[in-house]
Amino acid sequence: MSLSLTVLGCSGSYPGPDAACSGYLVQGGGVNVVLDLGPGSLANLQRHLDLGAIDAVVLSHRHPDHWTDLTGLEVAWRYGLELEGLAVYGPSEIAGLSEMLSGPLAPTLVWHDVADGDEVEIGGLRLRFSRTLHYVETLAVRIDDAESGLSLAYSADTGPGWSFDSLGSGIDLALCEATHLAADEARGTLHLSARQAGVMARSAGVSRLLLTHQWPEYDPELFRVEGSEAFGAPVDVAVTNERYDL
Ligand SMILES: [Zn+2]
Repeated sequence: MSLSLTVLGCSGSYPGPDAACSGYLVQGGGVNVVLDLGPGSLANLQRHLDLGAIDAVVLSHRHPDHWTDLTGLEVAWRYGLELEGLAVYGPSEIAGLSEMLSGPLAPTLVWHDVADGDEVEIGGLRLRFSRTLHYVETLAVRIDDAESGLSLAYSADTGPGWSFDSLGSGIDLALCEATHLAADEARGTLHLSARQAGVMARSAGVSRLLLTHQWPEYDPELFRVEGSEAFGAPVDVAVTNERYDL
């Protein structure tokens, strides 16, 4: 089995019509890992996987569009499936927010704090975290499948100033946020445009670029065009419920 990424939601910052916020299913190394669980992504996840088959959840940061469906997953595991012990990794402040909303996570969810530079093994996958340049503590992650030697990386949310190169070389697929178009760059937010994502991924030497977290009002085709020009090769724009095999 090699490494694959299925998009559960890719709408940037708020959901669009029929468009969930950030969530991705990574399958490889004998495990199913969910990366981010924004609003609507838990619904889409169930098209691809029984919820009881999740081995771990990895959350990038505390902005609600990246994690709040964890509360629904906790309810499904606790009262529906009557399971416990699901490992969840993320910056510590998410655990506190989730407990404020839903009560104690344990024993259903087993929380693991992760921070910049940490490495974690989940089944045959090795994860390495890098703090990005965003409004709150935000962790990009690189996932290496030991058996196939394949690797993917996820930028989470970031402004210009962070790069995939902080996760090392040899990234086969880079899933990169591109919230804006070039015309928005003057706003100076801690997000990337498709152009900025393309320039950064090109200089980091990634093999393949998949843009995500698009602002819902924009035509995805515009991201593809601006991103491809900057990357110097065709890029893809994430499509919900689409699977990308490495
Ligand atoms: Zn954010």
